[in-house]
Amino acid sequence: MSYRIHRKTTVLILAIITMCGKGVMPVRSTSSSSDSYDLVITNARIVDGSGNPWFRGDVGIRDGRIVRIGRISSTEAKATIDAKNRIVAPGFIDVHTHVESLFNRPAAENFVRMGVTTLITGNCGTSSTNVAEFLGRAKSQPIAVNIATLVGHGSVRRRVMKLDDRAPTTEELKQMEAIVDQAMKDGAVGLSTGLIYVPGTYAKTDEIVDLARVVARHGGLYATHMRSEGEKVLDAIRESIQIGEQAGLPVDISHFKVSSKRLWGESSKTLQLIRDARARGLLVTVDQYAYTASSTSLDSRLPAWLLAGGREEAKKRLADKDTRERAVKEIKETLKRSGFKDYSYAMVAGYDPDKSFNGKSIAEITKQVRKKKDVKGQIEQILTMYEAGGAGMIYHGMSEDDVQRIMRESFTMVGSDSGVRQIDESVPHPRGYGNNARILGRYVRELKIISLEDAIRKMTSLPAQTFGFRDRGMVREGFAADLVIFDETTIADQATFVNPHQFPTGIDYVMVNGAVVFSAGNMTSVLPGVAVHGPGYRQVKDVARKGAP
Ligand SMILES: [Zn+2]
Repeated sequence: MSYRIHRKTTVLILAIITMCGKGVMPVRSTSSSSDSYDLVITNARIVDGSGNPWFRGDVGIRDGRIVRIGRISSTEAKATIDAKNRIVAPGFIDVHTHVESLFNRPAAENFVRMGVTTLITGNCGTSSTNVAEFLGRAKSQPIAVNIATLVGHGSVRRRVMKLDDRAPTTEELKQMEAIVDQAMKDGAVGLSTGLIYVPGTYAKTDEIVDLARVVARHGGLYATHMRSEGEKVLDAIRESIQIGEQAGLPVDISHFKVSSKRLWGESSKTLQLIRDARARGLLVTVDQYAYTASSTSLDSRLPAWLLAGGREEAKKRLADKDTRERAVKEIKETLKRSGFKDYSYAMVAGYDPDKSFNGKSIAEITKQVRKKKDVKGQIEQILTMYEAGGAGMIYHGMSEDDVQRIMRESFTMVGSDSGVRQIDESVPHPRGYGNNARILGRYVRELKIISLEDAIRKMTSLPAQTFGFRDRGMVREGFAADLVIFDETTIADQATFVNPHQFPTGIDYVMVNGAVVFSAGNMTSVLPGVAVHGPGYRQVKDVARKGAP
């Protein structure tokens, strides 16, 4: 592998990199008319994102776009990368992230270093409710990767109804519809829900259908963290499909899984519900991270009625002995129904009041703090930690068979469900560092669950098709030059549950809009990312143009 900048144009390339650092796209060369390309990647094995087998070619990039694929003379290039039989693929689109903090951590290093070039955030019901402001920040606060967002139902509901456990009034529903409508006009790609979280969990199906109808008018989709991924997962899938059919819009089911031990193996049934819906003509996709553990809040183990109104309200309820007992009883029953014998499957990822808890299970912590081993003691420990501010958790709740069965399905996309990570901050789920590399190393090369070409398709053209990105997700002439170069024989995730802050190996280069953001083991500090707008945004522009004289 070599990255060669032709000497006569070194200054220009540096200028490009400097300008990119200010959020400006690579500029057209004025130094020499013989330089037709800003960058040419030679000797590549191109996996173009379509799912087709790889082919050999050079990739010519100019002004942030792929302008030619074929044989290209290196004298036409200002800079070349000799890919020497490495795989050149479209940059990965991570369809499920939580990166509302992206503008504070603009390098997004954990994503870039696993080959991700576009992030879709606003998932699980939580987003900015001012999409114009959020996406607009990409202009004034440069970022390394491209960003798109959903508008989160939970955030919209909270803005209008706070954390109330009730149906909206007609007026409140109108207000929520207006916020969603504006978000779609401002470029959101769709509506997300988080139906296990407060306040999303308080919404009945018809409330979501009403809001999804607004999204349908703009050509957006409905992405959902369903009401259940365990015990009631089949009902939850039926509800998601019902929302899609009644509101008339595509559905993406987030982090698709079976998380109740009692239901392990039932992914054959859950997937069949989706195949049936697709056969009826409803567009349904799912996304997945390639691990048998999930990660979410500690709150998610508690009954929804307890959490109504927020933590202070819940603490008041828990101060009442009878109410506390009722909560303990319900939590215990839920655990029993899920098939886990105790909370040894629940690991603390981040607990601010006592960081020594990080990386330990609730069972271990209970033993250490309360000298108790029983489930009731563990539930008391959970309530105490909730009262002290809550914790980020990792739940080892899935089976490998289900993960693999879901991965094989043609409509399954790849999403990390991660935020932007800070090295050595807490003990987060390793998916935020390893997800894409893990699929390409473990599931493609080692276990041969899916082909390399299919894995890449799930990370590129399928997400682009699903979210309506018309010029990303493929190595095609005219498409944005979001690219990743890697060695299929060595690519591997390194992040583990014990030691998650580890970058993958085997990735050589990552490019965003034609600019190199990662090169030979190092971040380049270039920030070429842009905001990617949803279909409602384009419609508004089209109407404006048509209306012009
Ligand atoms: Zn979620």
